[in-house]
Amino acid sequence: MPELTTDVRYVKGIGEQRAKALEKLGIRTLRDLISYFPRAYDDRRAYKKIKDLEEGENACVEAMVAAAPVLSHIRKGLELVKLRAVDETGALDVTFFNQAYMKDNLRAGETYTFFGRAEAAGRRRSMANPAVEREGARLMTGRIMPVYPLTAGISQLTLVKAVEQGLAACQKLLPDPLPDQVRREHELCHVGYAYGQIHFPASEEELAIARRRLVFEELFLLAIGLRQLRGRRDTLACAPWADTDLSDFYGRLPFALTGAQRRSIGEIQADLSVGRPMNRLVQGDVGSGKTMVAAAAMLCAARNGKQAALMAPTEILAEQHYKGLAPLLEDMGVACALLTGAMPAKKRRSVLEAAESGAAQVVIGTHALISADVAYHDLGLVVTDEQHRFGVNQRSALAAKGERPHLLVMSATPIPRTLALMIYGDLDVSVIDELPPGRQKIDTFAVPGSYRQRIYKFLGKEIAAGRQAYVICSMVEENDQIPDERKAAADYAKMLQERVFPQLTVACVHGRMKPKEKDKVMSAFAAGEIHILVSTTVVEVGVDVPNATVMVIEDADRFGLSQLHQLRGRVGRGKYKSYCILISDNQSEESRARLKVMTQTGDGFRIAEEDLRLRGPGDFFGRRQHGLPALKVADLSCDMALLREAQQAAEGVLAADPELKGCPVAAERLREMFETNEEAMN
Ligand code: ADP
Ligand code: MG
Repeated sequence: MPELTTDVRYVKGIGEQRAKALEKLGIRTLRDLISYFPRAYDDRRAYKKIKDLEEGENACVEAMVAAAPVLSHIRKGLELVKLRAVDETGALDVTFFNQAYMKDNLRAGETYTFFGRAEAAGRRRSMANPAVEREGARLMTGRIMPVYPLTAGISQLTLVKAVEQGLAACQKLLPDPLPDQVRREHELCHVGYAYGQIHFPASEEELAIARRRLVFEELFLLAIGLRQLRGRRDTLACAPWADTDLSDFYGRLPFALTGAQRRSIGEIQADLSVGRPMNRLVQGDVGSGKTMVAAAAMLCAARNGKQAALMAPTEILAEQHYKGLAPLLEDMGVACALLTGAMPAKKRRSVLEAAESGAAQVVIGTHALISADVAYHDLGLVVTDEQHRFGVNQRSALAAKGERPHLLVMSATPIPRTLALMIYGDLDVSVIDELPPGRQKIDTFAVPGSYRQRIYKFLGKEIAAGRQAYVICSMVEENDQIPDERKAAADYAKMLQERVFPQLTVACVHGRMKPKEKDKVMSAFAAGEIHILVSTTVVEVGVDVPNATVMVIEDADRFGLSQLHQLRGRVGRGKYKSYCILISDNQSEESRARLKVMTQTGDGFRIAEEDLRLRGPGDFFGRRQHGLPALKVADLSCDMALLREAQQAAEGVLAADPELKGCPVAAERLREMFETNEEAMN
């Protein structure tokens, strides 16, 4: 008898070769196989008579092969099999390219089902490379077909057949991680049914039912897992930090902190003094002053005889932080050091020594902070800035250099609270929902591409007045190719330089550049040596160039609202009036509504809420910026209501049964989901 853990080689048609290919997809057992969900579906349910086939439509036709198929070699490397099939309404010309075996597969006088894209010219009907099978087989035709992500050596059909067998063998054996009561309360279907329908849905309705259940299950388990992590963390102990008085710090700042900054610092101080490692996320819109909050926490560390490390995602940001924080902290008697990959070896050695001896109380840097050769004397606080640029592994690698240090994560991605609770279920969240006073509004316009010349003129004027500008170009996909951002940015920059602004300096940055090159261009821009910086979204991360006043975003409709907001946050950072121009030729209702939100508000949280409302949370899950266990279905389709339901169900179950004694299947699944992540989440 097959079991869920049976090797996939058990499946007919899966030999050594294919098993190896499947392994690349993470499929080793029957359970892996049936848990390999389609990424899309191909609706092949429509049947047509030949004469009713319309140009370009996809349909099934049942027709008899009229005469033996003919194979011809057109030229080297091109073989054609041609045949004519007929039903009672007409004839269909079928051509197969480079599938010579079709000649022998299809026999004259037999009836087959053909599925493909119809071509219709006058009374002539034809199909090229249709899927074919014996009438009534219903494997590749006449139903909604799953479309699986593939790898070399595995075809759709192989997978379809294998999954079908896998389901037949063990669909009924699947244990249900959802407690029965939860399943009934939330009107969710049985697990076996859901697996069957997610692969081979009988209809759209049934697919929706299956999907809803699987999404719910995933979110439910995630919510429970995160709660448990948090619970476990609460049992860890460390010495409470006694000295958290910061009144002198407040006195030395050139400005008064905002209420939200003070509140966040207060929350951090409370965390530090209870004798448990802190795990806090500080969320604040761009420019809300997160750096000062980090500074306060680092000062606390020094005051309590501990070291603090602040990790930034780029050299520029690390330097920016160092330049901003070191004078302030050193003024208060705290020794600071900067550690980046670009440093000369000698300098680096002295910083390493200072970190190891404890002479450096605050170390600010890039990934260099987690290199193997870096050791700390007594690392008590780890701060990561713009954390979504770091994998959780990097965060935890830094934490591992201390003994259960306090963790502070700073993020500028505004995430609505409901979602933050889910995504950051194991973190406490402080929100800086207030900007320092006196910030100017960034005037934002949404315009069609026909305005481009006027926009360039405006750019020229701003630059003549001494300002600088960003132009963001999106990655245009060409003929299904993976978009090449290098080309997109470089071509655009070249065009601007040569055809529009020959007298100015235009440069470009993109994500495929080496970090060093990228930082070099960014530094030149920061120094004012570049007038216009053409970029893909790499500038998103908190670069501070106060002299830049114009942000032009091409194909703005291709970006998420939150991303547009981040991009816009690159301007309006100095004393000059700033502008954001969103260019889009997408006239769809949805696109216009979204861009309108941008022109109406500068509030990152409102924008995030709006984004969530318009697009659903899939984007947040999809971006994988949080290091959660990978979600398989939830990012395909899930809405906020379901998210909340799953969360509530999880809380209910945990409240009644914190050890999950009554749900062994869920407990087991959680162990699998989190085993690779547990370290990372703490
Ligand atoms: P972000 O949250 O984007 O990291 P920063 O910490 O870089 O923001 O702060 C943005 C700018 O605002 C910096 O120049 C900083 O000195 C300034 N700033 C921070 N807090 C205040 C405040 N309370 N009042 C005035 N300016 C402030
Ligand atoms: Mg910042």
